[in-house]
Amino acid sequence: MFNIPHLDLPSLESISGVVQLPGSKSISNRVLLLCALSPGVSVVHDLLDSDDTQVMLDALRALGCTIVPSTHDDRRLEISGMDLARLKSLSSKSAEPLALFLGNAGTAMRPLTAALTALGVPCTLSGVTRMHERPIEDLVDALRQLGAHIDYLQNEGFPPLQIMPSRMGIDSPVRVRGDVSSQFLTALLLALPLLSDQGEIVVEVVGELISKPYVLITLRLLAQFGVHIERTDWQRFTIPKGSSYRTPGEIYIEADASSASYFIAAGALSRGALPLKIEGLGKNSIQGDIEFVAAARAMGAQIEEGPNALVVTPSLQPLKGIDLDCNHIPDAAMTLAVMALFASSPTTLRNIGSWRVKETDRIEAMAHECTQLGARVTTGDDWIEIHPIPLGQWRAASIHTYDDHRVAMCFALASLNPDHQTVRILEPRCVGKTFPDFFETLFSLAQTPTQRIPVICIDGPTASGKGTLASLVAKRLGYGYLDSGALYRISAWHAQSLGMALTLEHQTRIAQSVSELSLQFEGERILVNGHEVSELIRSEAVGMAASQVSALPEVRQALFELQRSSRRLPGLVADGRDMGSVIFPDAELKIYLTADAATRAKRRHKQLISKGIPAKMEDLLTDLQARDARDTERTVAPLKPAAGAMLLDNAQLSIEETVEKVLAQWQSKQAF
Ligand code: C5P
Repeated sequence: MFNIPHLDLPSLESISGVVQLPGSKSISNRVLLLCALSPGVSVVHDLLDSDDTQVMLDALRALGCTIVPSTHDDRRLEISGMDLARLKSLSSKSAEPLALFLGNAGTAMRPLTAALTALGVPCTLSGVTRMHERPIEDLVDALRQLGAHIDYLQNEGFPPLQIMPSRMGIDSPVRVRGDVSSQFLTALLLALPLLSDQGEIVVEVVGELISKPYVLITLRLLAQFGVHIERTDWQRFTIPKGSSYRTPGEIYIEADASSASYFIAAGALSRGALPLKIEGLGKNSIQGDIEFVAAARAMGAQIEEGPNALVVTPSLQPLKGIDLDCNHIPDAAMTLAVMALFASSPTTLRNIGSWRVKETDRIEAMAHECTQLGARVTTGDDWIEIHPIPLGQWRAASIHTYDDHRVAMCFALASLNPDHQTVRILEPRCVGKTFPDFFETLFSLAQTPTQRIPVICIDGPTASGKGTLASLVAKRLGYGYLDSGALYRISAWHAQSLGMALTLEHQTRIAQSVSELSLQFEGERILVNGHEVSELIRSEAVGMAASQVSALPEVRQALFELQRSSRRLPGLVADGRDMGSVIFPDAELKIYLTADAATRAKRRHKQLISKGIPAKMEDLLTDLQARDARDTERTVAPLKPAAGAMLLDNAQLSIEETVEKVLAQWQSKQAF
């Protein structure tokens, strides 16, 4: 997951391959609650691992469920039902209310409010600031009809809430509004079977029910857990007397159809020839957002639907604008809004008033961000009209995401723009709500000409701090990090361990042995043929040996392709001698970090001492000067600034200040 202030998406050319998407958020959180309400143990497969499911799991743990993740399959979980008798005993008036924090997960807040009221568990339910702005009054009013004791702790009609035990009757029919959020009805349908020992319960929807497909998911899952609710139109729902939850034992969660929408769109907008296969859901999906397939087809997308997979072929023609009532696909409709930017005529999405009470006001958010990219957009209370962006008029933009995962994910598609503009996604971490690895997944399927992938090269004499600087800059930008010095250190260490002298006459054998090594770079860890060498290769002796081996042209050649191939999406920071001159001469930014030898010796001394390695300052200074001299004077890749490099003397700067200087320099080269 990219937990950084912003992520720059280079212009992407095509999207293809095979992708297995994470589990559906809507199904995951409903299934978790149903498991918790069913006696015995349930085994859940392919559960979504995201912020919203984590808050649900935390809440259920706090309510006494035992949750055991599988040790051999990270997509499998065992969950035991809550001890309902113990929970009821909590309902004595003296019990301290249980405090449950539910983040920004509507799929946790609404159903838990209803279920914990039905169970009479004294508790407070709160969330992030935005959750406290999302309405819940219609649900609370419906529960109050049955005798619930629920208080608003801040603003009338909004969380946080306090639930106190009370005698719940079944004053049927229970009436609930359906035109603000269908989650209120879903919450009642999940909770009221707990009261059905008292008799049949009828729930009546007041007003037009929105987002009906989400209610269908609820009904289908209820049936899987032994509760069969009779539906009359979309107005009346009858819960039979004596309904009780029974776990089906094993439950498989479908891939998230809303998440699939980004990849369906990406496959259609791809300018390549190869298809994209999306696994884990298909035409038998119980998720309403599978209807996005029909909407995307109406725009011209080529999609084949199998029972458990979708195959999207790049559209040869530009997409067409559409005019569509999107009430049935409110979430996936945001993806249509971004596809509309690429179309040949305007698109109008209607009946999307619920966008205004989601993670953010999505009508405002989509309009503002589409405009930033260069589109003309008009909006009304419950509609949005988007004009396509003509070729040549796409603008590089910095997209606000409003802590809304869907805004971040759908605007990532703008990186497929034909004008090759970069798209900056602010606060990309918000995708964690439903799809923590969204960007990694997108990059793994994306192809783009190498020269569009940004590279920053950082070089400088030994102990100038270039390695630390490069790795910190890479982290801040979400880029990969190439520590080329480590490659020479590994080469030297390996050659020496095979008893080879590091001289010209042995260079062919050394180069050969290096090219046969299996190297893995995992964050800070470096593994050679499966063995960790991270610390081992950092010694002064190995550094000196690296300086010798790196003067051998055949060794440099052997490492050439390996270094080039590390230029991958979304970008690279490369540290080392010839990064800016030989390996990536077209790098957009080259930094040559310097500091006088005494300062560098002092830093190296501090570093060694802090690691418990004895060192003498005078020896370090002498070694350092010798290394500088050899590296500068050698004919092969001598130590000197690459053409166009920015000289940065950091003798008086802390590492944080140096990082900020480099980032500022990088920013000055961006179009936003
Ligand atoms: O940067 P580091 O101290 O780990 O590099 C070890 C040695 O490898 C340096 O002294 C330098 O001579 C050599 N080197 C090189 N080309 C690179 C990186 C390092 O010649 N790209």
